[in-house]
Amino acid sequence: MDITKLTALELGRKIREGKVGVREAVSAQLAAIEARDKDYNCYITLNREEALRRADAVQEGMDAGRYASPLAGVPVAIKDNICTKGIRTTCASKILGDFTPPYDAAVIERLTAAGMVVLGKVNMDEFAMGSTTETSHFGATKNPWDISRVPGGSSGGAAAAVAAEEAPLALGSDTGGSIRQPSAFCGVTGIKPTYGTVSRYGLIAYASSLDQIGPIGRDVSDCAAMLSLISGSDKRDATSVPQESFDFMDALKDDVKGLRIGIPKGYFSEGLDAQVGDTVLAAAKELEKKGALLSEFDLEAVDYAIPAYYVIASAEASSNLSRYDGVKYGFRAADYGDLQEMYKRTRTQGFGDEVKRRMMIGAFVLSSGYYDAYYNKALKVRAIIKQSFDRAFEKYDVILGPTAPSTALKLGESLSDPLKMYLGDIYTVAVNLAGLPAISLPCGRDKQGLPVGLQLIGRPFGEKDILRAAYSFERTRAYISPVQE
Ligand code: GLN
Repeated sequence: MDITKLTALELGRKIREGKVGVREAVSAQLAAIEARDKDYNCYITLNREEALRRADAVQEGMDAGRYASPLAGVPVAIKDNICTKGIRTTCASKILGDFTPPYDAAVIERLTAAGMVVLGKVNMDEFAMGSTTETSHFGATKNPWDISRVPGGSSGGAAAAVAAEEAPLALGSDTGGSIRQPSAFCGVTGIKPTYGTVSRYGLIAYASSLDQIGPIGRDVSDCAAMLSLISGSDKRDATSVPQESFDFMDALKDDVKGLRIGIPKGYFSEGLDAQVGDTVLAAAKELEKKGALLSEFDLEAVDYAIPAYYVIASAEASSNLSRYDGVKYGFRAADYGDLQEMYKRTRTQGFGDEVKRRMMIGAFVLSSGYYDAYYNKALKVRAIIKQSFDRAFEKYDVILGPTAPSTALKLGESLSDPLKMYLGDIYTVAVNLAGLPAISLPCGRDKQGLPVGLQLIGRPFGEKDILRAAYSFERTRAYISPVQE
């Protein structure tokens, strides 16, 4: 048995049955990382010694009957913008230097309490700004399906690690698609939960009104289990919902009879790669065969989602990132005269180009002369987009479309053309603007053999609808791994 090929729930079951030891599971995963990660560069920081120590402690706890979670003993990779006590957390930026948080993010507390083991911190676009994982200070992550291609972003390290079997499960974050799009590019499954479902306490902020943490796994069940574990109210995040806990596992039913699925016509027009479009529509037909009711409709105002998103996300980023000044965290420039110069040189040297571009756009749209013309207008567009989804969800339970307009791009292809990269977020950003849940799961491959992602969007707290549809669809095809035997 190859432990690294098991899904997280399968592995959890074997651990509970005593067929696999926790140390054995963690060691197998560390060995796979050490063998493969030089090709893929998924991990920024490996938590080797501590993970093994923890494995023994969890084993002891399990032997004493302490952990009830189906994921107890299962190792997990964490995106490097989620704070982990005692483990360096970089946001893939030079400016955080060797910042080692003195506390755990809420999600880490929860998965630790359940007996999961953190393998290490995985690569991402700097401060989660990007769609390719190429803006990382630690170098790009490569797509396990084809190392000349990007894994998507910004949670590219997380999605690639899961695909490359360097972790059974990972946590990513999604501000405008960063869980779903890399999941699509790497042929794995990822969920962006309804805003407020998962505490953001300890998630290093990019755009606070859009950010959500969510799971990336090799199947829908693993994602549902992980999401059940990490969601629920948290006093330290004022936007977290006042519901103690969630259980998504009962949504995993192979039954879509009568499920009303809306397909936005506009999602299948100009700009969409034809093979991606055909593959996604074929997936919709599969669901129809199983009894789902499909219809096409016009999702109004989504054409304005990208400009509204980039105005709002950049505005929030410019405010959130003002705290990196060379005083409180990590990196400080070596030579400076006075305090102003210290700030300036630290930020000039510490941030990469994409992050600087966002902060400048953000400062501009928030400036007194342009606030109404840009920021305020973007907020109005956001409200209109939300209403447009609300109307759609009066008629449909799930909205179906592609996750991204193409399969994985070549490394370097979009770095030189940021606007092109932004346009690639066309199907994902509106979901964050409206605070909705959405899942991306593999639905086939293009002629080059690259995975295509199917996106299912739900109404607020409609996770169970999209999980049910995703689970049903998943039954129609076997998981395909890029890792050769
Ligand atoms: N690609 C989008 C951006 O660059 C989304 C990133 C994300 O979801 N963190 O902002």
